[in-house]
Amino acid sequence: MHLLIPAAGSGSRMKAGKNKLLIKLHGKSILYWTLKSVFSTKRIKWVGIIGQPYDKEQIMSSIKNFSKKVFWINGGVTRQESVKNGLDNLPNDAIKVLIHDGARCLIPPDLIDKCAEELNDKDAIILAVRVTDTIKIIDDNNLVQETPDRNTLWAAQTPQGFLVSKLKKAHEIAIEKKWKVTDDASLYEFLKWPVEIIEGNSINMKITNPTDLKIANLFLKAN
Ligand code: C5P
Repeated sequence: MHLLIPAAGSGSRMKAGKNKLLIKLHGKSILYWTLKSVFSTKRIKWVGIIGQPYDKEQIMSSIKNFSKKVFWINGGVTRQESVKNGLDNLPNDAIKVLIHDGARCLIPPDLIDKCAEELNDKDAIILAVRVTDTIKIIDDNNLVQETPDRNTLWAAQTPQGFLVSKLKKAHEIAIEKKWKVTDDASLYEFLKWPVEIIEGNSINMKITNPTDLKIANLFLKAN
């Protein structure tokens, strides 16, 4: 199975002044931990890292142990653009692809393998977890408007997996229609193409803010 890792963000919400994936957790970069998990799987045979050219040197040095085993792809201004570049640079023999955010560095390898296995007989899958908080929809004045039924709410994670030809088509249509999305499954939703949920694990959090860093550090130390 081929796997693309979007790693071309700026980390503005982390306020670290650099790509958050270069921040160290338990002595190694966030991206190192993501790759450690990826290279501990049984089913991932090809890995592409999508990064900003100005980050390439630092990224490659932070993942030295794996740098010979990964293929570099230049990223775009948005995650959507980065993934599009990734798809355009996949080898010709890539029929299906998993996409996993570099910022989800605590993913257990067996969850990546589970996604790869499920994708073998499906067209589109995403890892997701049941929402445990009660979610509120608010208006522009921060006033609560609505409480959606929690039983229908799942938080989307990555990996997300797709048939390469179909996901490429979805990205092309998105450019034509000027759709802006934060994950690939959203394009399928716009197109009314089915996407199946694979139940994930809340440890597969996306490192986004300084509190997430503290939690991830504690987790890595304990494991
Ligand atoms: O910003 P956020 O954490 O939602 O980004 C999710 C993932 O997408 C991160 O791993 C980030 O590096 C990646 N990304 C990217 N290209 C961008 C913006 C984000 O590959 N232009």
